[in-house]
Amino acid sequence: MYDPNNIFAKILRKEIPCDIVYEDENVLFFNDINPQAKVHILCIPKKNVSNFNEFLSQSDKESIMHFFEKISVITKELGLDQSGFRLVTNNGKDANQEVPHFHIHILGGENLKGIR
Ligand code: 5GP
Repeated sequence: MYDPNNIFAKILRKEIPCDIVYEDENVLFFNDINPQAKVHILCIPKKNVSNFNEFLSQSDKESIMHFFEKISVITKELGLDQSGFRLVTNNGKDANQEVPHFHIHILGGENLKGIR
């Protein structure tokens, strides 16, 4: 069950500010408030889905493709495709998922040894 009071839902409703990297009708990418690397971007769909499996099961193929394509575009715009980067999505309890709105972390901008 999606919790509409989670922090990313509040960010999507513009109740809480964020540092936007990219936004369109379907996705919002913004800088993590507590970055674990020089580049640490959170990528979220504008859809009430709690985790990866919900995102896949409740979205059409076009929306899923759009989400991942935009991640690819941003990594290229930031030159991360040249230097390297990591995509992470924490799902549920064992992964210590903190915010129950599906998101992918883009980490990069430095060597990620020892990070996440
Ligand atoms: P998770 O553990 O759920 O994969 O990651 C949640 C991420 O959200 C953490 O990296 C945390 O720093 C970030 N975060 C939590 N609250 C906020 C917030 O209010 N604004 C932003 N920009 N990031 C947040």
